[in-house]
Amino acid sequence: MSERTVGRAVSEASVSRPTQSRTNRVGLDTDSLVPHESGSTSGRRIVVVGGGMAAARLVEGLVARGLGPQTTVLAEEQHAPYNRILLSAVLEGTHRPGALALREKQWYADKGVDLRLDSLVVDIHRERHEVELADRTTVRYDQLVLATGAIPSLPPIRGVVRADGSLDPRVQAFRSLDDCGRLLALLDRQGVHDQPRNAVIVGGGLLGLQVARALAVRGIETEIVEGRDHLLSSQVGASAGKVLKRSMAKLGTQVYLGARATRLTDEGLKLDNGYTLETDLVVLTAGGRPRANLARRAELTVDRGVVVDDQLRSVDDPDIYAIGDCAEHDSTVTGFVSPAWEQAGVLADVLAGDQATYSGHRVVARLRATDLDVCVLGEPENEAGEVVEIANPVKGTHRKLVVRDGRIVAGALVGDLSRVGLITQAFDRQTVLGEHEAGQLLLPEPVSTGSTTGWPALPDDAEVCACAGVSAGRIRACRSLEDVRDTTRATTGCGGCAPTVRQLLATRPSGTQLSGTKLSLEGTTS
Ligand SMILES: Cc1cc2nc3c(=O)[nH]c(=O)nc-3n(C[C@H](O)[C@H](O)[C@H](O)COP(=O)(O)OP(=O)(O)OC[C@H]3O[C@@H](n4cnc5c(N)ncnc54)[C@H](O)[C@@H]3O)c2cc1C
Repeated sequence: MSERTVGRAVSEASVSRPTQSRTNRVGLDTDSLVPHESGSTSGRRIVVVGGGMAAARLVEGLVARGLGPQTTVLAEEQHAPYNRILLSAVLEGTHRPGALALREKQWYADKGVDLRLDSLVVDIHRERHEVELADRTTVRYDQLVLATGAIPSLPPIRGVVRADGSLDPRVQAFRSLDDCGRLLALLDRQGVHDQPRNAVIVGGGLLGLQVARALAVRGIETEIVEGRDHLLSSQVGASAGKVLKRSMAKLGTQVYLGARATRLTDEGLKLDNGYTLETDLVVLTAGGRPRANLARRAELTVDRGVVVDDQLRSVDDPDIYAIGDCAEHDSTVTGFVSPAWEQAGVLADVLAGDQATYSGHRVVARLRATDLDVCVLGEPENEAGEVVEIANPVKGTHRKLVVRDGRIVAGALVGDLSRVGLITQAFDRQTVLGEHEAGQLLLPEPVSTGSTTGWPALPDDAEVCACAGVSAGRIRACRSLEDVRDTTRATTGCGGCAPTVRQLLATRPSGTQLSGTKLSLEGTTS
């Protein structure tokens, strides 16, 4: 039942029984602790396993509802919860690792939250309402939340894992800040900055493209190996994939499609099409799956992820919940930050005793990569409907909407995001479009006609930040970008809303001008 974590030598299956119930406080400043005892009767103890993006959002919700002092977060990583989406920006060199924290460690202490870093949970003892940590200490819970994210899959490439079970030093995963640090250290050690070397990225999905662009921006020659017949095959169709491949080639990245890496040797990475790619760096980005080993071992129902109901509660145990990448709701696992944050918001209500229901989420995914614009709405390759499509392979653009009963049910925009705000709005609000409107939405942004910006006026109730669920009206009510970030959390997720947020702030009615604010997303994160 153990799951292999690429790049870590941790076997989660090798767990022995707990000795006695006591509290593990690894990695915490003692003066930041809020005293409590395991099993305290002073209030319900909410224990969150995992300190990633879903957990961070849940804790914000619990704090807002006065439940901070009753909350313990057990986090495997050594860093306070951070914005995983920006890892490629760290790799690219535009953001410092320290700038990724969603909240500083001190914030948790100030709010009475017991955040324990470097604390890997290895077992759940449901009958005793306890979780067991890797050091064999236990923590009692009244309500347990699994927010353990996803785990990268290890593709079947001979030579990637050495005889002693460790990874070949040329092979790197890319999921955590530590993975990112290892990759950067490797690049520095090999002197790649001075003399560009070659890197092969295994996997041509969103993450593979991000990593390839980040390394290429650093001056490293990159190649992508993708087993399917086009790039981003889970998100876009073959013609959009072709446009992407062409764009990547223009940006200097060679793409091998329909080819599988089979073996890593001293000569390089061998593909099943007969090619050998000489390389001293292989980055694995091909696929991942919900990290549900704890739930499985505790005999909770796990299909692809931990199966939960509309209150995000395990279908087997009323005291255990799951959110984010590890959860499966309505036969769906997500893998994006916006549904993870929506689930976190619903669960904060549920744990506070309020009525709340999660009924699924329309995902809008933006690729974060320099010179590569991609936005995917829903599942354009799976949704049924009429397809409206405009492509210009020469210019590197491909835009497609799937329309059903007059509503946009999915879409994919490659190479031109000039109308992304309006399209996302119509998708989110399920606006019924006129006969010509879907086609018009795919045309380039019209040149300004009288308005100071040419930017279409969004109504106050239009959702601007899908990750944090923030409307245009709430953005307009803010004084500055920092204010937006602090009070609404917009721009702190995937960052795709940042241009719209900047525009909304810049076009606020006169008399509400910004107070010396630097309008740049970089200003908020780096
Ligand atoms: C490089 C990268 C780029 C991405 N880019 C985008 C993007 O542009 N847009 C987008 O929407 N999504 C993106 N994603 C996906 C997004 O990051 C995830 O959907 C989101 O982080 C899910 O949040 P989570 O809390 O469920 O999981 P995670 O953020 O992965 O957090 C899970 C945490 O749980 C910890 N954990 C696991 N098991 C245990 C245990 N037993 N005990 C203690 N701790 C444990 C893990 O160490 C981890 O810190 C990206 C992901 C990666 C890796």
